[in-house]
Amino acid sequence: MLFSRMFMPTMKEIPKEAEVVSHRLMLKAGYIRRLSSGIYTWLPLGLKSVRKVENIIREEMNKKGAQEILMPLVQPKELWVESKRWDKYGKELLRFVDRNERELCLAPTHEEVVTDLVRREVRSYKDLPLNLYQIQTKFRDEIRPRFGVMRGREFTMKDAYSFDVDEEGAEKSYMAMFDAYTNIFKRCGLLFRAVEADTGPIGGNFSHEFMVLAETGEDIIISCDTCDYAANLEKAESAPVRKAPSTKKGVFRRVETPGMRRVDEVSSFLNTPVDRLLKTIVYNTDKGIIGVLVKGDREINETKLRNLLGLEYLDLADSVTIEETTGGPLGFTGPVGLGIPLYADRDVEFMEDFVVGGNEKDVHLVDVNPGDFSVRGYFDLKFAREGDLCPRCNGRLVSTKGIEVGHIFKLGLKYSVALNAKFLDKEGKERYIVMGCYGIGVGRTVAAAIEQGHDENGIILPMAVAPFEVDVLPVNSSHQESMELANRIYNELLERGIDAAMDDRDERPGVKFKDCDLIGIPLRVTIGEKNLKEGLAEIKLRREKDSIKVKKEEIVERVVDYVKRFK
Ligand code: ATP
Ligand code: MG
Repeated sequence: MLFSRMFMPTMKEIPKEAEVVSHRLMLKAGYIRRLSSGIYTWLPLGLKSVRKVENIIREEMNKKGAQEILMPLVQPKELWVESKRWDKYGKELLRFVDRNERELCLAPTHEEVVTDLVRREVRSYKDLPLNLYQIQTKFRDEIRPRFGVMRGREFTMKDAYSFDVDEEGAEKSYMAMFDAYTNIFKRCGLLFRAVEADTGPIGGNFSHEFMVLAETGEDIIISCDTCDYAANLEKAESAPVRKAPSTKKGVFRRVETPGMRRVDEVSSFLNTPVDRLLKTIVYNTDKGIIGVLVKGDREINETKLRNLLGLEYLDLADSVTIEETTGGPLGFTGPVGLGIPLYADRDVEFMEDFVVGGNEKDVHLVDVNPGDFSVRGYFDLKFAREGDLCPRCNGRLVSTKGIEVGHIFKLGLKYSVALNAKFLDKEGKERYIVMGCYGIGVGRTVAAAIEQGHDENGIILPMAVAPFEVDVLPVNSSHQESMELANRIYNELLERGIDAAMDDRDERPGVKFKDCDLIGIPLRVTIGEKNLKEGLAEIKLRREKDSIKVKKEEIVERVVDYVKRFK
């Protein structure tokens, strides 16, 4: 591509809403333009990157025997009613009505449609296993679209769905996708980590998120500094600091704590560290009112609580409910004498002489011990955090930020039961198909790559996903000899299969260098009059400061070498 013909509108005034660097640079470098909230047009440069990511995805998916299909964006209500998600999905699902009063939605995901397809077409165990994928538009009416294409409302996803005869097969399919995703993100040149994610009530280690490590990531990754344990914040566990539980009982005292409701208020009023306080949180659930106990300096992980008790519904109790069930106002709840089922975090078992609410206005109890109340059990109910002990080894946990670019998940029978997707096994018996689903955010992957690769001059993309591999840059476009060489190199590179661009514009050298850096082309071949006199030209890697001088006859070979090496 010649720069003189390229539609590459760079932007000077970046809107304030562009908070993260990838968003700013994608606007600035003319990769994307905003049409409306969370809805973007991909311009030629951005789209070239997107296509490269898509091709890598395709190749790696095909290698695993997955087959590409293309399903509709517009889907009928009936299928979503069958899966019971029409009402449950919430406002992210954009519903609308056609001229015949039929209710439809824009697909946020495709489990319904793909399961419907498979239940109609798959009859026997001989048709399985099957993995179908597509690279297609999704629409999710996100509450807070932001960071450009990173969290858009309309975005491209690669979504795959696997269908197996049994659990064992489904696990094999899962591992194949784990492998494919690892290859995909490696080939994209990203620094990433596969982390364990929550599977809901299914349990097991069959949900992983692929996280690109970046400071601006919205997700928190908890990992071990010693072994390879890594999980997202929702799922991460930590090992309890074990010691002998206290045998003390009945030594507690009642103290007045006027107006002290919050943990920090009680802590400073009683001059007791926050981790010597116990929080008692009352919840309304579909299984009745419950209380959850956690150390004063920790937070309850409601996902863990839901999974433990198999809850469909969980919400903090309001002040009226608290007053009715505990006898005291909000802020003064404690476990002693409390007549609701109590579930304690495992740390609580090892606490000693701590402070709890007195279930009475302006009263707390001090020197309370676990023997002073009864719980249904001690469970892992809190968020893990940096400094905790690793659940697998004796290492320490550390916390990093990441961008979720991919997610693989074993669905089990969820959709096949809901939509009645069955097959006939060898004995001729009807059985439900075991499913898995696997997503990659294509645009988000490009944005994440930029989040990881940039400097003050612009984008630094890995060779495999950059819009062009090399920019041939004649410093002075009116110098005939420079242009002749530039043209020759450019054409030879194209013939050798290199994705080359040439900046043939009649622009000042500064402008050409700046644009080349801004749009993130990994290699630059600079042809200047002075070097040319000595039969030389320069090659520079975008990542590095210095350039090297190479004999003009050797340029093409060198460039081909670099491209191969870095791709
Ligand atoms: P998130 O937690 O970031 O909202 P999700 O858990 O809803 O993501 P999935 O339903 O697992 O995401 O979708 C698969 C992939 O699609 C994600 O890993 C992500 O890369 C991408 N994705 C999801 N939502 C968006 C969005 N609003 N904009 C761009 N990409 C997205
Ligand atoms: Mg989401």
